[in-house]
Amino acid sequence: MFDKAKLIENLEKRGYEVISLATGAEAAAWLDAHIQNTTVGIGGCWTAKQLELDKVLGKTNEVFWHWLPEHVEKYGSQNAVRDKAATAEVYICSANAMTMGGEMVNIDGTGNRLASLAYGHKHQYLVVGMNKVCEDLEKAIWRVRNVATPLNAKRLGVKAPCGDGVKCYECGSPACICRATLISHFPMNGMPATILLVDEELGL
Ligand code: SF4
Repeated sequence: MFDKAKLIENLEKRGYEVISLATGAEAAAWLDAHIQNTTVGIGGCWTAKQLELDKVLGKTNEVFWHWLPEHVEKYGSQNAVRDKAATAEVYICSANAMTMGGEMVNIDGTGNRLASLAYGHKHQYLVVGMNKVCEDLEKAIWRVRNVATPLNAKRLGVKAPCGDGVKCYECGSPACICRATLISHFPMNGMPATILLVDEELGL
């Protein structure tokens, strides 16, 4: 079990606002109370799906999420919804892995999530379960490749070899969903980031 207090200290030193919470339900309630009357983009994110953040935030905001069939139908395509999410004031996501030192690792096949983590929003909120925490960057990258991506591929029915949910096979296949990796060292200039750090296991 990792030292949460030390992790929070390391994240705050890097410039992140950190909210420490026990459960995902508390994280959803916190976001509901703090994000209102604005536009919200959500990345491809199992934590957001698990917490039904589209419904929670959709009560008082305009939400754009390419995982919602009704949004795809409304805007014409998944990419059209991704474009709307890319220009939303607020962006919601998680991290595929976080180091005890406070760095975050994310991997992506399409790139919309990485782009939004790096640029384009007034504020980003990252809901991260303590199950994503790794000792160092090497272990975080290993987790992203061998835990998060295979489980993601399995759930999404991706035809890459890791669709078996077991591990990375370094496939380089046309179906590969890890085409770029973003390592976030600090909040980006001009885009404050709040991390909701949750004891409960969340996402993949
Ligand atoms: S490289 Fe291929 S097998 Fe490895 S995690 Fe990425 S998509 Fe899966």
